[in-house]
Amino acid sequence: MVVKSQAGNRVRLKSQIFIDSLNNEKILSHFDKEFFSFRVNKKCKSIVFVFDEALTSLEKILEDLNLLFPLSLPYVSSYTNEDGHCYSCTSCSSCSIGKNEGVSWNAKLITFGLLSCYSIYIFVAETFLGITIVASPFSLVAIVSIVAALPLFKESIESLKQSKFTLQTFMSGTLLLAIFFGEATAAFEIIYILRGGMLLEEYIAEKSKKEIHKLIELDIKKAYILVDDIELEVDLDEVKEGDIVVSRSGEKIPVDGFIKSGSAEIDEALINGRSEPAFKQSGAEVFANTYVEKGRIYIEVSATGADTYISRVISKVELSLLEKSPSELEADRLASKLLKLGTALTAGTFFITGSYLRAFSVMIVMSCPCATVLAASTAISAGISRATKDGILIKGGEYLEKVSQSEAFCFDKTGTLTTGKPIVQEVVLGLNVDEKTLFEFASLAEYRNTHPIATAIIEHAKQIGALFDEGYSSEIVPGLGVMASKDKEVILVGNKKFLNNNRISVKDFEDRANKFLSKGETVAYVTFGSEILGFITFKHEVRLGTIKMLDDLRQRGVKHLVLLTGDDEKVANSFAKEYGFDEVYSNLMPEGKADIIDELKKKYKNVVMIGDGVNDTIAMSRADVAVSFASGGSEAAIEISNVAITHSHPDDVVNLYDISKKSLKVVNQNYWIGTSTNLGGVALASVGLLSPVSAGAIHLGHTIGIMANSSRLTWYQN
Ligand code: ADP
Ligand code: MG
Repeated sequence: MVVKSQAGNRVRLKSQIFIDSLNNEKILSHFDKEFFSFRVNKKCKSIVFVFDEALTSLEKILEDLNLLFPLSLPYVSSYTNEDGHCYSCTSCSSCSIGKNEGVSWNAKLITFGLLSCYSIYIFVAETFLGITIVASPFSLVAIVSIVAALPLFKESIESLKQSKFTLQTFMSGTLLLAIFFGEATAAFEIIYILRGGMLLEEYIAEKSKKEIHKLIELDIKKAYILVDDIELEVDLDEVKEGDIVVSRSGEKIPVDGFIKSGSAEIDEALINGRSEPAFKQSGAEVFANTYVEKGRIYIEVSATGADTYISRVISKVELSLLEKSPSELEADRLASKLLKLGTALTAGTFFITGSYLRAFSVMIVMSCPCATVLAASTAISAGISRATKDGILIKGGEYLEKVSQSEAFCFDKTGTLTTGKPIVQEVVLGLNVDEKTLFEFASLAEYRNTHPIATAIIEHAKQIGALFDEGYSSEIVPGLGVMASKDKEVILVGNKKFLNNNRISVKDFEDRANKFLSKGETVAYVTFGSEILGFITFKHEVRLGTIKMLDDLRQRGVKHLVLLTGDDEKVANSFAKEYGFDEVYSNLMPEGKADIIDELKKKYKNVVMIGDGVNDTIAMSRADVAVSFASGGSEAAIEISNVAITHSHPDDVVNLYDISKKSLKVVNQNYWIGTSTNLGGVALASVGLLSPVSAGAIHLGHTIGIMANSSRLTWYQN
């Protein structure tokens, strides 16, 4: 047990025993009187408590804890690595860089280093010193090979127990036979290459994970929290929901939360790709890992650590990395076929030539179809990690592969192709209504809404001093608008269809509204009871690079570009014409968008849906690949998406397409490298032109070749 930190009577302890809830209950009941507060953080295996200094001291508490848990081991630093990441899982952001296997990376590296020294010794001794290395079953080489192969033997015994003949069994058999026939040097070579290959593969996988992890790495480990008006420096993992955290100019915000007081210019490029810093003040939401450029804010914490918005998005990506993509699955199937082929070729060579040495060389060449497996997995990991560098988070190799195999791309309009920030353009008022009144009602309804139109209304209302929040309960109707009510009063803000659905006729306003709609502006009516107070028109700013993105996609072979929008027909048509879509659907409800995706799937191979809002989620879930634009988009859309484009640049869609295409190309090249060397090796070995030792060298050659080819993806510049 260790005392991780102490600030006055606030203490954080760390130990294995805190993982068990029963232990924590025991602690709580024992110190019931002495503790003011008590909190458990299982992930960090720690407890944080504030004790009553009048009743006890830290020494006394530690003494009591030792009596309560007499067998509890002293704290051993290997429970977590230096970065504080635990070993318990392979995929979550909080611990992924820790090695999950029992043996640490360093230990593996040292073992491999020793094996390398030994192999150099053999080479030098035989080639330059004229020493003959004894390779009999009881020689030093044989013993070293067996020790180095112990993990492999263990795995093959496990699979034999389940009556399975696996790659490991085949390789173990090869090794033992080699040693038995006095070819211990070849055996050593196989195991040496195998371990080197495994180390390399692990390195590439870890590298992709680290790349992803870099996005959420917080270099700050401390935070300042406000306790009784005093700023107290505490460990970041001690901060809890409801605390007030202080962030100042030049600092990264360590938590998710809402600004309680103060104001600041915040660089949120990581979350939404906006290059301009956003000015935020009291009430606004802020996110962990964004950067305070200027100002000072007091943040009421809503989420910390792995619960923050960016951590959740990233941990999804990491989790899905564990799932295999179609070409990885294909590689696995191919590898198991090669295994059978290897066995047959080995037996065939022996029966035809009668030479065990030749059969043996064939066996060595075929004993490692790992190159086939690596062919796909290294390329896909490298592709995903390359995309991550540009802020494109791909939740699984499957989606990376499908993007460039898609023939139809569907785009939502508002928030996706247009920026999430429409601008209030015109206000058309009903009789006896002024602009301020109109916006007072509109803001009452939209206050808690995050739809781009709602944000524009709130912003404008603020500017003209008409912002009100009187606790109306509001219901958002995706694709239509918002209905707010308090007692019997009802306010509607939304489009014509929304009003019609609620039996309010827009007859008196329609002609005037149409004028704006055909200019491409969106119209939102505001009603109170059954009276229309007026309407507001919004101009949408289209994201820079939209036309180029559509052109580029078409050039690359995308057959069908579709616009799907909940907006009015006139707006949609003028938009689609300007940007050259093949097809446009307007006035769509969320289910309508989904139905169109289903129809398109019948006609085109793989359909991609790119959206940003709640109203896009059903369609996204039906598409073969769902892409979300994270900029100001809804969390639901980001959650459901297979790919999240965090910077929201239209260019990134093309970039994603290119990375997808390149990755598939590299997978194919890798297959060629692997298969051709294998076949060539077998041919040479069967006619006696390849010794067991050179057969081993072939493995090294193509494994390195495949790794090098995949790593090209990481450096590739778009
Ligand atoms: P898109 O499909 O292009 O992203 P949406 O489905 O989000 O558009 O919205 C469709 C239409 O519904 C908008 O153009 C607007 O008229 C209306 N609407 C949706 N939400 C709101 C809201 N919160 N306030 C006012 N109007 C809204
Ligand atoms: Mg939208």
